[in-house]
Amino acid sequence: MVPEIFIPFHPEDQRPRNGYFIILSGPSGVGKNTLLNRVLQDLSGVYYMPSATTRPMRPGESQLNPYAFVSTEEFEAMIEQGQFLEWKKIHTNAYYGTHLPTIRYAIDNGYDIITDMDVLGCADAMEAFPQHIRTIFITPPSIAELSHRLYGRDSDPVNIEQRLSRAELELKYQDKYDYLIVNDDLDQSAEELKEIIQKIILS
Ligand code: ADP
Ligand code: 5GP
Repeated sequence: MVPEIFIPFHPEDQRPRNGYFIILSGPSGVGKNTLLNRVLQDLSGVYYMPSATTRPMRPGESQLNPYAFVSTEEFEAMIEQGQFLEWKKIHTNAYYGTHLPTIRYAIDNGYDIITDMDVLGCADAMEAFPQHIRTIFITPPSIAELSHRLYGRDSDPVNIEQRLSRAELELKYQDKYDYLIVNDDLDQSAEELKEIIQKIILS
């Protein structure tokens, strides 16, 4: 069953302004989810926004962490019902999409949310909510290091090569983002990300 709103918001986290929709992009394997998991533990009142996807869960993942895992039939029904702000087929033809009712609810009710999205989805989101979106690009110290991280995470070389070839496209968009972090040292990058998010939500 696909939930109506993907996030269990708590009224005490409501801000007296519209919510911010913070988007993190960067090639697959650069460390977006690792960084987000670390930083969100230290930040109260900022919610992770799960996308929906049809790709299989990896070990260590669970429902809504980091995705709402749905079947292709469910995803296609959601497309028909206009439930996505944007959706894309990425990598192995899996669908990924951002749930529009959850985002509208968060922005309208003063909840700050953060998600990760590919560069094309981020461009669509910026067009839809230009005033409420802030964007952060995470870049690897080198392609060799990105490859090393992908091989450390996944054992299927086809999956990895798909992600590496897409990285080229993703990296071309980095100048369009509000903030840029080179994820070399994890502790330092997590600190930078935390500071950026704090700056955004206090602005
Ligand atoms: P993404 O969400 O961008 O696809 P992940 O967060 O899954 O990437 O990270 C991919 C792999 O790289 C994971 O195994 C993670 O532990 C590792 N990783 C992330 N950041 C760093 C870093 N700064 N240094 C070394 N390894 C890292
Ligand atoms: P994976 O998690 O399968 O390694 O990679 C998923 C890729 O899809 C990442 O680049 C991630 O940023 C992107 N992604 C995740 N959710 C969405 C979404 O809702 N929309 C779009 N356009 N991209 C997404």
